[in-house]
Amino acid sequence: MKRQEPVIAIKNLNHYYGKGSLKKQILFDINLDIYAGEIVIMTGPSGSGKTTLLSLIGGLRSVQEGSLKFLGEEVFGASQNKLVQMRRNIGYIFQAHNLLGFLTAKQNVQMAVELNDRVSQAEAIAKSEMMLRAVGLEERINYFPDNLSGGQKQRIAIARALVNRPPLVLADEPTAALDKQSGRDVVEIMQSLAKNQGTTILLVTHDNRILDIADRIVEMEDGLLTRNSSNTVIQS
Ligand code: ADP
Ligand code: MG
Repeated sequence: MKRQEPVIAIKNLNHYYGKGSLKKQILFDINLDIYAGEIVIMTGPSGSGKTTLLSLIGGLRSVQEGSLKFLGEEVFGASQNKLVQMRRNIGYIFQAHNLLGFLTAKQNVQMAVELNDRVSQAEAIAKSEMMLRAVGLEERINYFPDNLSGGQKQRIAIARALVNRPPLVLADEPTAALDKQSGRDVVEIMQSLAKNQGTTILLVTHDNRILDIADRIVEMEDGLLTRNSSNTVIQS
């Protein structure tokens, strides 16, 4: 298969926490390419470095050693300004949904549009309503997060992450706080929206019931990528 340039290209990436005698290596010689439209799931034990790697890919932390290219541009040595630009092209979904409690579902999504784009308020509202419909929350657009279930809140977070049609979405254990069915619903919504928009997804999870949505599974262990293979999970 002929492939274009990867959305993410990581070469010989190392990462450390702490200073001096407390300095500890967390990531070891990571090499990973992720292509446009791929859904990649990252698994691995707690403490193996998954969130650290995700935060580097997301431009939330500076690259210390090695090369990390996002959309063809080197992130190692990038200025804070450059990192801010980079983050505009990434949607983030975390375990805790990180919604603002004093804003409604629609306002939470709308804010993401208004932060990113020079669009009119009317357009931002229209986009937000469309995304909330896409995640099945059309009846709940004026609800505050406190009045919604965990699964519904996570669906707002998905709408917020995808509303600007970013080339990349990073999700760190997005189903961890959800029951089995809500977790499944949430990833299926993410999968179908991503496929429609051509969005690349990198999703960290412990939840082996959702592995079948991945095109590829990578595994971290003690800071090393120990598996990087096409998904062969049989879909049931
Ligand atoms: P995972 O997401 O796979 O659970 P993390 O990337 O959160 O792993 O953590 C990897 C290792 O780095 C763990 O040993 C953790 O304790 C350590 N760690 C994570 N964040 C920090 C930090 N900000 N400062 C120091 N050590 C950290
Ligand atoms: Mg983590």
